[in-house]
Amino acid sequence: MSANGTESGALQLPKLQSETPNYNDTYDAIIVGAGLAGTAAALTMAREGLDVLMLERGPAPGTKNVFGGVLYTPTIRELVDIDSAPMERYIAEKRFSMLTSNGDETAVSMRPGAWRDEPHNDSYTVLRRRFDEWFAKQAVEAGATLITETTVTGLIRDGHKIVGVETDRPDGEIRAPVVVLAEGANSLVSEGADLKDRPEREEVAVSVKEVFKLDRETIDDRFHLDGDAGAAYHYFGDGAVGEAVGGGFVYTNKRSVSVGVAYRIEDAAHGQTPEATLNAFESHPAVAPLIRGGRRIEYSAHVIPEGGAKAMPDLVHDGAVVVGDAAGLVLNNGVHLEGTNMAVESGYHAGKAIVAALADDRSDEAALAAYPRDLEDSFVVQNLRHYDWFQRTIADDRQFLFEDLPRALADAETEYFKMDRSSKDEHTDAARDRLLDAAGGWFGAAKRAWRFRRMLS
Ligand SMILES: Cc1cc2nc3c(=O)[nH]c(=O)nc-3n(C[C@H](O)[C@H](O)[C@H](O)COP(=O)(O)OP(=O)(O)OC[C@H]3O[C@@H](n4cnc5c(N)ncnc54)[C@H](O)[C@@H]3O)c2cc1C
Repeated sequence: MSANGTESGALQLPKLQSETPNYNDTYDAIIVGAGLAGTAAALTMAREGLDVLMLERGPAPGTKNVFGGVLYTPTIRELVDIDSAPMERYIAEKRFSMLTSNGDETAVSMRPGAWRDEPHNDSYTVLRRRFDEWFAKQAVEAGATLITETTVTGLIRDGHKIVGVETDRPDGEIRAPVVVLAEGANSLVSEGADLKDRPEREEVAVSVKEVFKLDRETIDDRFHLDGDAGAAYHYFGDGAVGEAVGGGFVYTNKRSVSVGVAYRIEDAAHGQTPEATLNAFESHPAVAPLIRGGRRIEYSAHVIPEGGAKAMPDLVHDGAVVVGDAAGLVLNNGVHLEGTNMAVESGYHAGKAIVAALADDRSDEAALAAYPRDLEDSFVVQNLRHYDWFQRTIADDRQFLFEDLPRALADAETEYFKMDRSSKDEHTDAARDRLLDAAGGWFGAAKRAWRFRRMLS
């Protein structure tokens, strides 16, 4: 297929398509992947009158996405009216639990009243199959062209400069001044074209997820929810992910519950299989009752970049930009799992930079430099930098954080609330001693408090 691909007769009608497709025109930009980052870039450029083409390998946007997940919408709501978006539930409760492999759970739950009010802290569960299709439709309505079931297999260069893409369609070359690489975490095109290195093993997490169908009332009852309120539960400790560094999650949709685990691919490579880890997590006494009786309707696996700011590849090249997961823009550290907001923000900044560069009839690296500059000033790179130290610190302290601490907390609670004929003084002393013992005494506790002080700074 070429830019006039319809003439080859090879192009099947995509499910979503611009009302007035004109494959004879030269496109201003080609976007590889109609996920959140790609669609945000397409929307931003199409609104400014650029002729943009989104290429998506799935039968529709979102069909290939694996996601927990909570969609964070502060940037999306600046781009589109999200009142008509297919949201599942807003997040009314966040819960963090430590699980031991002995069946203990120690949990902290947060339900701030403010989250019940619009805009619900800009946090909603969504089914990506539905949401991404809706979002891409907004870009198509703004003038972008979307072609589905088309995989980009490589980039075309003219000397150093990227000038287009090769696809798996017959005669599948399409040329444009700029290519936006929005292909997600499995960024085979970017890696194949040497725009980024293959990430180090410790910079990638593997995630497996299942979706269980349950009726709405059952979900409301089990998670203490009403109306459109939803819950996001996060789990740590060896009861969640065994001997790996990572965590588990449970998110409520309207009529289903997503359950998954995500942990360093390095741990999977050392023999801890994702399937066995997920099975053990789902069987934990703290998790099993939440999904009891649910019908498994989906199983999927994916990778999550978690290398932070230091693992970000070059974001601009002559004729190309890299956005979203393909650029490693995910904050995944146990406390936060945020990639959706970063994907949209990066697509937006990339789109703006391309519009400005093409207005000067340029698409070289220097002309596109506003994109990394703006991203650097945004919450995306600032948040990644803020937590760059965290991932390594957690991994270094795995034994304490994932095994000793959850167990010590469970023992201390058992001791503190024990009903026998000893005094409360004795119980308090025993609980404190158990915690101090796990932390390495007062000195060890102070050292750890100092190490993690940046969580609050
Ligand atoms: C299990 C799991 C749970 C998560 N939970 C959360 C969460 O709760 N909250 C959160 O904010 N983030 C979460 N994330 C991260 C979040 O999903 C990503 O950060 C976000 O989807 C990135 O968007 P993207 O547009 O960059 O990539 P993607 O959403 O992956 O989109 C890439 C698109 O490109 C297409 N594509 C890929 N290669 C090609 C090709 N060669 N040709 C054509 N098309 C191609 C794909 O089909 C896909 O549609 C989670 C991730 C995982 C794996």
